[in-house]
Amino acid sequence: MADPNQPHCCICHEPVAPPYNMLGGRVYCARHFAQVNKPHPGFWRSAVLMIAAMGLASGILAFLVRDVHDLDRTALIGIGVILAIVPTALWLYYFYRQDRLEPEPKGRIGSVLFTAIVLTDFVGLRVINDWFNVSSWASYDDWSSLGASILINGFIFAAIMYFAIRIWVYATPEYDERMDGIIYGTVAGLGVATMLNLHYIIDNEGVALAPGIISVVTTALAQASFGGVLGYFMAQARFEHKPVWWVPLGVVVSAVLNGLFSWLINEVSANGLEVEPWRSLALGLVIALLTFGALVYLMQRAHAFTMRPGKSQV
Ligand SMILES: [Zn+2]
Repeated sequence: MADPNQPHCCICHEPVAPPYNMLGGRVYCARHFAQVNKPHPGFWRSAVLMIAAMGLASGILAFLVRDVHDLDRTALIGIGVILAIVPTALWLYYFYRQDRLEPEPKGRIGSVLFTAIVLTDFVGLRVINDWFNVSSWASYDDWSSLGASILINGFIFAAIMYFAIRIWVYATPEYDERMDGIIYGTVAGLGVATMLNLHYIIDNEGVALAPGIISVVTTALAQASFGGVLGYFMAQARFEHKPVWWVPLGVVVSAVLNGLFSWLINEVSANGLEVEPWRSLALGLVIALLTFGALVYLMQRAHAFTMRPGKSQV
């Protein structure tokens, strides 16, 4: 008879025999132990490269179309809607290509993305605009706009990303690498960004081309980053034994960064009554590069720590 106290792999729940593969207090079967720690240096280098390329390409494109003003409203809305979708489509294409040796289930990535999009529209923006009616009071002074940005917008978007990941992938055997945390987090962030961008286009009845391109790319870079941060915390909690406040801390960090960013971007890009889109783009790029740089560093540190002799097996 099987020993009821025999440990089980925390990913696939298969019973495992000694010597146990341990990671942060969790037991793994040999396959999932190798899986969770699989390093992906090339993946991250090219992610950072892609962020830089997106920033550069949108800057050049915006510069080229800066004098195009004679488009009618229908054309502007049509172009705007396409613009709102392009950054997300590029990221997804990148994830599918990079992960092609061992593809993440496409359906799950799609479910996370779609859930984040729908929640942002049906819950997030309604709570922000209709319930809290943020726009009517938040611009009253700097402190109330910063407070609203973090405590309302930031937390709502972080909560949406959390639920999109939690519902579809977090507890499934497909979530079996540290990297998955950041990928699914980024996808959830892109879902939020896609809906924010669609609203931005439609609420403005189309957009001026150059500032529109920059705003859309900046929002996508920023939300992808804040989703990645949350995903990092969630992955650490899934694969190592972390205290109960660990994931809530991730939500707080992601929300504060999100709120601080949307507040800063208004402060930074306003030049008197003029708006300086280039400054927004620069800020979005810096935030995305810093965030993903930090995530790459944290992941490598986690790998190095678990791979230290005497740490991996108990
Ligand atoms: Zn397993």
